[in-house]
Amino acid sequence: MNRDQELFERARRVIPGGVDSPVRAFGSVGGTPLFISRAEGAYVFDENGDRYVDLVCSWGPALLGHAHPEVVAAVREAAVRGLSFGAPTLAEVELAEAVRARVPAAEQVRFVSTGTEATMTAVRLARGATGRDAIVKFAGCYHGHSDALLAAAGSGVATQGLPGSAGVTQAAARDTIVVDYNDLDALERVFAEAGDRIAAVITEAAPCNMGVVAPAPGFNAALRDLTSRHGALLIVDEVLTGFRVHGGGWLGLEGNAYAPDLVTFGKVVGGGMPLAALGGRADLMQLLAPVGPVYQAGTLSGNPLATAAGLATLRLADRGIYGHVDDRSTQLQLAVGEALTAAGVPHVVQNAGNLFSVFFRDGEVSTYDDAKAQDQAAFARFFHAMLDQKVALPPSAFEAWFLSAAHDDKAMDQIVSALPAAARAAAG
Ligand code: PLP
Repeated sequence: MNRDQELFERARRVIPGGVDSPVRAFGSVGGTPLFISRAEGAYVFDENGDRYVDLVCSWGPALLGHAHPEVVAAVREAAVRGLSFGAPTLAEVELAEAVRARVPAAEQVRFVSTGTEATMTAVRLARGATGRDAIVKFAGCYHGHSDALLAAAGSGVATQGLPGSAGVTQAAARDTIVVDYNDLDALERVFAEAGDRIAAVITEAAPCNMGVVAPAPGFNAALRDLTSRHGALLIVDEVLTGFRVHGGGWLGLEGNAYAPDLVTFGKVVGGGMPLAALGGRADLMQLLAPVGPVYQAGTLSGNPLATAAGLATLRLADRGIYGHVDDRSTQLQLAVGEALTAAGVPHVVQNAGNLFSVFFRDGEVSTYDDAKAQDQAAFARFFHAMLDQKVALPPSAFEAWFLSAAHDDKAMDQIVSALPAAARAAAG
């Protein structure tokens, strides 16, 4: 038994499933998760002492690569001044200004610690602002694990093959209306029937939690029109895409052609520390306590180490960084497609900016049902063959692959040369 296996056994005695977040458990691919001892640049190192090229990037935050020296220095400097104050700081003001400068829709910003809190607060704020109860979400979109948003969720819920979660009350589920992604007709029908009950439509800016399924051209703008017509709010969730696909997130990539009422951030905005944010129209944000009646709070919100990491990351994330990640992404998408084609494996590679994933099936994927109709066993064989060659992919067929500014030629060569054998393994 190697060290990772020993630790997994030990972990399962004290931690449910041995993990603090379900997808980490390798449940859908089988085998033992890597227990990571450290990470640097494009690489993670496990407790066995092996080095892997990392295509998880902490599920998104590590845009600059792991342990970027300037980000680590900023966190160190902050740490010696104190770990948490529970009081306002200069850094959180600067970070809010940095977010607003990059995302015009975020006229005001409230920091929280997780993406889950950001979307949960957005939903509460939408209900408080409209006096309506229902929200609409799309099947396969993941917005964290608050009760209202767990119905037909992607990410770990998809990986575990769950319809939702036990423990969510019927009342909570009743107030969440689930519609197929990219299906404007279905959404029009829902609004025709229940428009006066709907507080908000929440959507991933570009869904990446059922695999990557970009919005059809004009889809997000149509959501904007439809919600406005019915007095509902539009919440665009940029927890995953924000500051990753473009300096201005997916909204920036689409030229800020439409403006959501509320927008949520996480992952890159915290530079790898527990930090997320809700932004939006100033008049709506003013409804949050202490100014308005919608309550929201957090002991660790705007934590000084997290704001230091976020600020350092956003300051470094210039056009050169995004250009590099975009190029690497294009290179890898082509290489994966070629390897799978050569091995005769049915597949489709889909992207949203520099985020992409591979579906092990033929034909375009535009809904969650399409995404589920793929050969997960083929993915599992592919995943393990990559892992054997020291390339760590996200351990689920429903997740995006993440690259970083630290993925240099050497790291890319290691990934690309591992692909043919993995494709042959996928072929079975
Ligand atoms: N929204 C989206 C689009 C996400 O991808 C995630 C997490 O993956 C969340 C919300 C939840 O964020 P967190 O895991 O920080 O609670």
